[in-house]
Amino acid sequence: MKASMYEGNHSFGLHDYEPKAPGAHEVQVDVAYCGICGSDLHVFHGDYDYRFSTLPRPIGHECSGVVAAVGAEVTAWKTGDRVAVCPLDYCGSCVACDSGNHNCCAGLNFMGLDSAGAMCNRWTVHERTLHRLPESISLTHGALVEPMAVCFHALDRSRSKAGDYAVVIGAGPIGLMTALTARYLGLRVVLSELNAVRVQRARELGFTVVDPRETKLKDFVLKSTGGVGADAVFEVSGTQSGLDTAVELIHPHSRVVLVAAYPHPMQIQLQKLFMREADLTMTRNYNEKDFDDAIDMMAKAPIDFDALITKILPLGKVQEGMELCGSPSGEVVKVLVDCQTRE
Ligand SMILES: [Zn+2]
Ligand SMILES: [Zn+2]
Repeated sequence: MKASMYEGNHSFGLHDYEPKAPGAHEVQVDVAYCGICGSDLHVFHGDYDYRFSTLPRPIGHECSGVVAAVGAEVTAWKTGDRVAVCPLDYCGSCVACDSGNHNCCAGLNFMGLDSAGAMCNRWTVHERTLHRLPESISLTHGALVEPMAVCFHALDRSRSKAGDYAVVIGAGPIGLMTALTARYLGLRVVLSELNAVRVQRARELGFTVVDPRETKLKDFVLKSTGGVGADAVFEVSGTQSGLDTAVELIHPHSRVVLVAAYPHPMQIQLQKLFMREADLTMTRNYNEKDFDDAIDMMAKAPIDFDALITKILPLGKVQEGMELCGSPSGEVVKVLVDCQTRE
């Protein structure tokens, strides 16, 4: 069997790879598709080299697949079951785990970043990581469940309700999916984006999009809300200007939700939050319920999920996929890796 492995130094290559035999509570999954995530790009750029004690190693955590073999004690799963994998390998006994917040486990092994990932023919994982995919969700769309769970977690953390007015800053993959999730949950949504390709795509998905160079976002939000301001702002761009804008848009007792990862120190105008006694909310990964909510939405919602998939590449072309996803043109939403096809 084969895996695409990170070799260090901006390089991925196809290697022979034998998945480990399943332990008593483990399952082997024939990986169908694995999405390339922003965090995988950090691996590609060398930012996460400290997480690799050995090289080469397969990465990838946004996958769908089919159960190929089960361990001796596994009763809930059988060969042929279609699944998405929730890549949280948590300790089960720390303060976070005790409260069900496995995403913040003190000893979290985020599979695919801290240990071997899904960009391989067959992946051995704990049975508790599996979520069943209904027949109505294709295996290609199944690879979108993980990033969609990120968005359900952000919406949950935002304490939003139907009818709320939400601003999403940044229309990259997670920004778009956050907007789709918010709209599905009944929120009124406006996106802010500078990149013309992304603006166009978000409009094709039926969203109102403001290019802040053409229209002042604060004026637009105030006008749209009768002078009140936004109930929730989702900062997904990860930029300083995004943070500066977010605190301008809210009304008293509203919420600014930071969905992006901020690897470097950033500034935030706390005075603006203080004067409004607003909540500043962080959001990290997801929990099991967010996975279930994402699957439920994807099974029911009349959304063109294909519009989110820009390209599907074989396992031997992960390098090309990384380069595509990293290009600043904004043309790429999701690139999937077909983990059963080599070239
Ligand atoms: Zn991801
Ligand atoms: Zn824990």
